[in-house]
Amino acid sequence: MICIKCHTIDPIPELEITGEHSKIHIHRQCLKKCIYELISKKEEYKEILKRIITYEEEVKDDKYTSQLTQGKFSVSWNWRDIGVFAPKLNKLVSEKVIIVLFSSRSETRYALTDRDTTKEVLDEIESECETVEEERTEE
Ligand SMILES: [Zn+2]
Repeated sequence: MICIKCHTIDPIPELEITGEHSKIHIHRQCLKKCIYELISKKEEYKEILKRIITYEEEVKDDKYTSQLTQGKFSVSWNWRDIGVFAPKLNKLVSEKVIIVLFSSRSETRYALTDRDTTKEVLDEIESECETVEEERTEE
């Protein structure tokens, strides 16, 4: 199995994620890198990711998704749930930050590749911002 980000072979990938149309093997560190790169390219993705995290945490358990993913994912959403249009979501999919869990002619349902890792990155970015501000006020 090969990590889709760093392309090194790893006998035990840290994250194995299976959607309807895709199977992802990625190191947690590599996923973090993907999220950092995405946000550094476009700041607005930080807000979008926050919105997604909030939605996923509010819904928590939807039986439909957990049944279809054998419990791997507890929640999925479509673009209307988040209020973000498909081109931006496609960008997140191509950067491996979210995954397409199911799609039919009428809708596509997504989920964060790994919510904990995404939260970790956002927390790190926030705390970096705070340190910068603190340093400024000290001057
Ligand atoms: Zn990797």
